[in-house]
Amino acid sequence: MGYKKDDIVEIKLYDLMKSQYGTDSNEAFDEFIPCDGHFIQAMKPFCGKRVILTESNIKNEEGTAVRFMKGGFIFTQDMFTKVGELREFTKTKNDFYKKKYTKAEITAAQVEMLQMVDKEKFDKIMAGANGIDVKRIKGTTKMLQLWAENKVNYFLMFGRKLKIKKEIEIEMTADDVAEDVETLRKAYPLQVYILDLFQKNDIIKNCITNAPRYFKQYYDIQPGMKLTKAMHKIFENEQFDIELSKVVQKTKKSGSLVVSIDPVDILFMSKNNSGWHSCHNIYDEGGGHGCYAGGIFSYIEDKATLISYRCSDTIAEYNIGKYKVEDISKSWRELLFCNPDNFYFVASRQYPYDDELLTSQVRILLETQVSEYMNVPNKWTIIHDDNLARKVVRNESGKILHYNDVLLYTSKHYPILYNRSLTANMSPKEFTDLFSIVVGAESICPVCGEHLIRDCGWINCHNCGIGDDY
Ligand SMILES: [Zn+2]
Repeated sequence: MGYKKDDIVEIKLYDLMKSQYGTDSNEAFDEFIPCDGHFIQAMKPFCGKRVILTESNIKNEEGTAVRFMKGGFIFTQDMFTKVGELREFTKTKNDFYKKKYTKAEITAAQVEMLQMVDKEKFDKIMAGANGIDVKRIKGTTKMLQLWAENKVNYFLMFGRKLKIKKEIEIEMTADDVAEDVETLRKAYPLQVYILDLFQKNDIIKNCITNAPRYFKQYYDIQPGMKLTKAMHKIFENEQFDIELSKVVQKTKKSGSLVVSIDPVDILFMSKNNSGWHSCHNIYDEGGGHGCYAGGIFSYIEDKATLISYRCSDTIAEYNIGKYKVEDISKSWRELLFCNPDNFYFVASRQYPYDDELLTSQVRILLETQVSEYMNVPNKWTIIHDDNLARKVVRNESGKILHYNDVLLYTSKHYPILYNRSLTANMSPKEFTDLFSIVVGAESICPVCGEHLIRDCGWINCHNCGIGDDY
């Protein structure tokens, strides 16, 4: 096979050895390769990496001898496969480059997005969570400046907005009804106590699947009867009947799905009144915060992270230290890690539960937006390959405080998505760069803005005390 300049090759050495020897064993190579033990393991990180050949890589006129260096190793043509079809794609350029903005336009966009942030609210949350007065918050201007610099591509892709949104109607589940039942319980504790004796799904279907024996005996309540009728037979309380009917009739729940770079949304990524919790919570009821609260700042300041969530229109009031903050309640959320140049993304873990409907709706929302912005057909490929996801996603180097679920939480499938047109029209260099989403940033202290946050379990630096204003 002849190689030419600009050919793309994919390093396959690890795969080739593994298929030949069937194991990860080093026995066949360690004795004669002057590498510090474990030669195959040392090669493993290079497997799947793509390289563009330069003229100096091609060692004879026929192009049958190729050599290049990477990571201190020498690779020859036996160690890789040629990705020939990609070369065809390099012939055309897509509209992406027509979207290039001037430096002045980018700066103007950053100013615009900063003006859209509710900084007063952002600072109040920071102050409350740190247990200090809001007057002492000095670090957030610098933090938000970094946010604007690093997230400006998403702002432009969203059509100069901090978030994109879609109204949804979702079939009620037993869990959705549970929230309504809890509201009902306050006014009708006895009635709801009896209601609990029926099965959860009976409320959604308004149909009794099974009744306790004494109900059958004393009230003539039988399976198949309407639940509302049964409750009427037991209590004969008209007001309760009306309230229960309202719950039973709500078979669909409306709400919004949002994809956002709004720093308040990221700061409040785990704040909700739906009763779930995550280690990235900025402030727990009654004080304290999640064990990875420092990681939130990593996501705010980085180039990769977007948050998607589901919420209702209801505004909740949260106590954050001595401050009261109004915000929506996120009943579900999922972080999306994205390459800011070509909008290729990996969906991270869903909280507090996996919901295929919600995550696919988020994908559709984002896919449509990216395709319109980039002026390409809305045709995407989804790959379900955790190993590949872990190659694509990596953490920024340095002191990074977030908990990266894609890299650390192993029992899930993280879908990778890319627009086929954008991938196909990339130049070789861009295509290689595509296989990289760098998550996280070093997080500056929101209180002073002078130092880095001391550790993942902290939300300030080693110099800034907690709670001394009280
Ligand atoms: Zn500080």
